[in-house]
Amino acid sequence: MSTTSFPGFDCEHVFTLADLEHWQRREPSLAVIGQPIGHSRSPRMQNAALAALAGEAPELARWRYYKFEIAPQALPQALQLFHGHNFIGLNLTLPHKVLACAHVTHLAAAAAAAGAVNTLVRNPDGYTGHNTDGPGFARALLENPGAPLRDATIALLGAGGAARAIAATALSEGCSALWIGNRDSTRLETLLSALRKSFPEAAGRIRGFLLSAGIIPLPEIPTGAIVVNATSLGLKPDDPSPVPASFWRPEMCAYDIVYGSSETAFLRDARVAGAPGADGRSMLCWQGALAFELWTGRKAPVELMRQMLEG
Ligand code: NDP
Repeated sequence: MSTTSFPGFDCEHVFTLADLEHWQRREPSLAVIGQPIGHSRSPRMQNAALAALAGEAPELARWRYYKFEIAPQALPQALQLFHGHNFIGLNLTLPHKVLACAHVTHLAAAAAAAGAVNTLVRNPDGYTGHNTDGPGFARALLENPGAPLRDATIALLGAGGAARAIAATALSEGCSALWIGNRDSTRLETLLSALRKSFPEAAGRIRGFLLSAGIIPLPEIPTGAIVVNATSLGLKPDDPSPVPASFWRPEMCAYDIVYGSSETAFLRDARVAGAPGADGRSMLCWQGALAFELWTGRKAPVELMRQMLEG
């Protein structure tokens, strides 16, 4: 499959703050920003979607989606420059998702509940912060294992930016119980108290536990739980799973938001125990599709976007 759907346009080029300072293009632009960013497949996926819809919406033929490596300390300056250079939308990835909340002019409800943003939409004064990670996760779960979040028991591993978004979505969709496990106890407690404050009616259904490499035993998670890896373990092929193999029961489902070229230890252990699982490509696709819809106001070509991630 070609790496770009716009002839002559290089989706893989990584731009920098210096490029942004001298940006000449006046046409509508979009970008994903992070550090590192070279691995991101979002430009492939989003440019293909723009090109596919340009037939029915000719203005989209002038839009382009770029990738920028931006350090966290440069984020405020970069956002001002993006705004001035007609970047009508941005995606944010590590390490900007929490930091950017302080630099947007408005926060959508889902982003405020998550305390993190992954999608910015330009407004006359700056950017409005949205979070499509949580809703993207919910859509991915509906595909595989085919389960709605309503009434589900969720065991969420991790308390970082992605975990916050997933936790907020699970609670707002009415999950019956939410267990959150994390290695760092302070980060865990911060997330638990933020969630109990944002969702007071669900406070009794939120429980925390420590992930500590077998030193402290894991709690008895109900057997039908959907277990979600939202730690960064699994990014490297030899990473261990955040939970021991003995944790798994065949009645559980595994969803690993991490994705890569090989099966993670988390998904392998689940599979060996008879628990079905899926990796994070479906969430990546859906969070991108929902961002695309926020920017363009049009229905995203989800199957094409999925193909661009697989290739
Ligand atoms: P953060 O850096 O915000 O959070 C990382 C989390 O991983 C923390 O909870 C951290 O725990 C935990 N962690 C890191 N190393 C270990 C370890 N050795 N043992 C146990 N826990 C560990 O990252 P994000 O939340 O933004 O992203 C997490 C992962 O999710 C990344 O791999 C990212 O690529 C992926 N992701 C996938 C998406 C998708 O669409 N599929 C969307 C967003 C993210 P502690 O607090 O103890 O340090």
